[in-house]
Order: sequence, then C-alpha cells, then structure tokens
Amino acid sequence: MRASRLEWAAQDFILERMTLPDDISDRARELHRRALVVDAHADTLTEMTDRGYDLDAAPSNGHIDFTLAGDGALDVQVFTCFVRPTYLPDRCADRVRAMLDTLERQLALFPERIALCRSGAALDEPRAAGKLGAVLAIEGGHAIENDLAVLAEFGRRGVRTMTLTWNNTNDWADGCGDEARHGGLTDFGRDVVSAMEDWGMVVDVSHAARSTFDDVLAVARKPLIASHSCADALRPHVRNLTDDQLRAIAATGGVACVNFYPRFLVDSDDATLHDVLDHVEHFLSITGPRHVGLGGDFDGIPHGPRGLENAAALPRLTEGLLARGIPDDDIVALLGANLARVFDGAEPAARDNLGAEAAAH
Ligand SMILES: [Zn+2]
Repeated sequence: MRASRLEWAAQDFILERMTLPDDISDRARELHRRALVVDAHADTLTEMTDRGYDLDAAPSNGHIDFTLAGDGALDVQVFTCFVRPTYLPDRCADRVRAMLDTLERQLALFPERIALCRSGAALDEPRAAGKLGAVLAIEGGHAIENDLAVLAEFGRRGVRTMTLTWNNTNDWADGCGDEARHGGLTDFGRDVVSAMEDWGMVVDVSHAARSTFDDVLAVARKPLIASHSCADALRPHVRNLTDDQLRAIAATGGVACVNFYPRFLVDSDDATLHDVLDHVEHFLSITGPRHVGLGGDFDGIPHGPRGLENAAALPRLTEGLLARGIPDDDIVALLGANLARVFDGAEPAARDNLGAEAAAH
C-alpha cells in the first residue's frame, strides 16, 4: 500500500511550491504566526491509516502534513479517529486503536516535529519547542462499543474529546442524520457525558441531533465544543448550528468551530474563502469573540473552499478577517486561544481516577 520514496520525493517538490501563499500581507502573516493556531477537526488519521503515509509527506491531494502546517500556518491539530458505522457492532474500538497506532507511529518517527498534547499539557507547549501539537479525538460515540472501560482506555492513550455521535444514531444518542430512537440521550448516554467530563475529555456536539444537543446541555457541567459545524442561519443544514445552539454553546463557556466543507457553507460544491469568513462573522455576531474557533474538516472533505485548499492556506483566513475589520485580539482568540482555553480548563482535579471508575461499571 505504501508508495515509493521516489513518489513521495516528487510530491514533496509539489508541496514545497504550494506551501507558502505569497498573496498574504506582512501584517496578516505576522499576526497569524503570533497566534496559536488550533484546528478542532481533521480526518488525517483516517487517510494516513488507510493509505499508509506519514506526516512528513502527504499525498499531493492531502490537506495536512508537516510542510503544509509549517511556518506557523497550523500549530495544533485535533486529529480525529473517525469510525465509519460499517465497523459496527464489534470492530469500532479496534478501528480507533489502529488510528491511535498511526499517531503513535508519527510520535516515534518524528520526535522533533510532533508532540502529543496529553492531558495536563497546555496546547501551546509543542509550538514552543518548534513542534506540531497533536490532540487526539474520536468521532462517533459508537466507537466505545457501549463500554465506559473502552472510553477510559482511549483516554489513557491520550484522547481528549469525542463527538457523541456521527450522523448515525447509536445505542445511546441520536445522530443528526438518522432515525431518532431515544429522543436525545439515554441514561447510559448521560453517563458517557458525565464520565467524559470527570476524566477531562471535552464533549463535542457536532453531528448530534438537536434533541441530543438539548439533553447534553441539561447534563454538562463544563464547556462544550462543536468541533466542525457551520451556521444554520446562512446555510440551513442538519449538520449546522442554529443561532440558539450557538448561544447555548457560548453560555457553557465553550467554542463553536467553523467547518470548511463547501456543502455546509453554501448550497453547492463551489464555496470560497469568503463563505468561510461569512460563517465566522455570523458566529461572532451571535456569540462574541470568545466562543468561536476553526474546525476545517481537512482530509475529511473532498476539497476545501477556493482560497482555503489546505493547512498552508490558513494565513489567508487571517488576511480575510483583517480585511473585514475584525480586531487583532478577536482574530487571535478564534484562531486557537479559545479552544486552548477549553481544553486546558477541562482538566480534572485528579487524573489518577481515569479508568478506576470505569472498572466499576
Ligand atoms: Zn464529521
């Protein structure tokens, strides 16, 4: 499955040329470099696991690797272990384990270039050492196979956030694109939310049905994130967030992160950077600047919007925000400081309990 090194070398050359957009002002580039840039959702681990490549050289249509993230374009990536429902019922956890192995392989191969932001470590630590920060996530609560001990195992391996569902309804939570079987969360679903919060994991409501979202609000005691969703007011879609949902996330102290998937931005495949800026501005208008973030869905979408094709293009977003008159401090907040605040604040008082409680279930 692995491509030859020669093939990678040729792709390196292409990536090198793509990496530094030259149409960015010094002011935007400086601000972008200064900001801690955190992206809340990418499916790169799926691509790497299935296609067999490493972060030193993504294929030419890849959206994230060390080169593309370089020069301060992207400082911390939440690497998501997405479990397609085809792995149900009993191969979901193994699928996550395979993707965790993929990330651990990167840590072993490139100790000078990537560091895992484990619980207890601030998100800006890898950047200070010149490394890409990696935060581990799970997409689709069915991944834990209805077992809190499995959730605890993933937590011990570094997973710090999870979407309760993917589009599918699982045994304990309704998903946004499927039959409503529970009217939101079941009792076990509420236990999952509580366990995540007890163990320092951030609860992610992207992909949740609106009934699930409401049930999470009733249970959650800590800030929530929506890692990769757009504004329903601009593009009505079951995957997008209504203004009420945006306000509710902000009220928890959490962060809603704008997705770059063209179909969530506009009613076609033909979105541009300006559409992303429209959604960011809408989020800002509803929640204020402390509750907005980015979750581009890179490597999980066929292509990004024009002007925002991969991680290397992220400074263009900063340029666009400046052009729209967004204050520097607000740009720094939404580029990543807001997400860093939520992850750092999710830390439990005592981490030693992780798994001890699960063993009791
Ligand atoms: Zn998703």
